[in-house]
Amino acid sequence: MPPEWVILAFVFAFGACVGSFLNVVVYRLPRGESLSHPSSRCPKCEHALAWYDNVPVLGWLWLGGKCRYCKAAISSRYPIVEFLTGALFAFYYIAMFDLQWGPCPPPVRLLDIRSDWPIFALYMFLFATLLAASLIDYELFVIPLGMCWLLAAVGVGVHAIVDSPSMRGSLLIASPVVNAIAAGGTLGWLISVALIYSRLVRRSFPLGEPLLEVDRNSIVAEWTEARNRGENPPPLPPPYSVWQIYSEIAREMLFLLPALVLAAVFGLLVLRVDSVAAWWTALLATPFVKGALGAMLGALVGGLVVWVTRILGTIGFRKVAMGLGDVHLMFGVGAIIGAGQVTVAFFIAPFAGMAIALYLLATRQKREIPYGPYLSIGTAVAVLFYCPIAAWLRPGLTGLAQMLGNWAGS
Ligand SMILES: [Zn+2]
Repeated sequence: MPPEWVILAFVFAFGACVGSFLNVVVYRLPRGESLSHPSSRCPKCEHALAWYDNVPVLGWLWLGGKCRYCKAAISSRYPIVEFLTGALFAFYYIAMFDLQWGPCPPPVRLLDIRSDWPIFALYMFLFATLLAASLIDYELFVIPLGMCWLLAAVGVGVHAIVDSPSMRGSLLIASPVVNAIAAGGTLGWLISVALIYSRLVRRSFPLGEPLLEVDRNSIVAEWTEARNRGENPPPLPPPYSVWQIYSEIAREMLFLLPALVLAAVFGLLVLRVDSVAAWWTALLATPFVKGALGAMLGALVGGLVVWVTRILGTIGFRKVAMGLGDVHLMFGVGAIIGAGQVTVAFFIAPFAGMAIALYLLATRQKREIPYGPYLSIGTAVAVLFYCPIAAWLRPGLTGLAQMLGNWAGS
């Protein structure tokens, strides 16, 4: 192995290059432009940039923050995002491999870059995607759903291939019943998605998600401002009546129904019928099945936690809390970090929100911030501190699981 500082420098440089790509994603994806064509160019004079001007952070520094050709100022956001991504990668390298923080379960074996690089790479892919999604959400109040689907697909694929019982960050579930619940939930979710995409059932809020009434005014102001600058922001949704919101939320509860019912039915079948249990246990021994099911359970739990909060919040406060973009985001996050971690991440997010709200208050800035960045910060923190939190919660959760098992088995 090369010395530690060489690896760290490489991890930082690699992260900075990823950050450079994220800049392209954040700018082009919401505008519907191709990510690969054309090559990087000055946004003002559109002169193509040479490779040496494109070197992360350094390129901006030695040009003094100005375009080489037209001398127009280039936003400092570009080198900041590059530096931030590099620092993020280096920080998590130190956290995971030097300090041994996360992921769980902690076996006797320590995390080692030589054997645990897949989980490190998977988490860095997650953080890079979350950073881009947060920047887009912060700027435009929308999370590109394609990014969430990408997270979910990569999570299920990678966990199906690399997970093993001795791996830290593995999402394998020992209990055949819980695996059956994951399979039933997945099937029910696929049915709902197929109904939506075949247009047999329509989406909720077809005219766009309602804005929170508290931020409607400021969003309308920003939207008008963008219009006045000559930009072309996406149309704003109409204000909905309380009853329209209730009926659309009822539609969303119907979407969740097949997944919940099939999860319960599959779980009970494996729990109560011996022949089904024997067949299912044999099936679970097939390669890739358990890893994929563990990741799917994470995705379903991540999406469900946000969605239930959205539904309860809407019923309780008569306005929509949490966007469907947030539901999709935590679906994708859950597929990578698993059911336990994604739930903890969701409950950490409001504290990140409070910290940022206090900061905005202290610096007298007034701006509504969407929830995506908070969920991303919650995820980044949960990954570090999940092991002690899980150990602390375990006695209560074990008791709860036994109670549920006794009740379902009787
Ligand atoms: Zn220029």
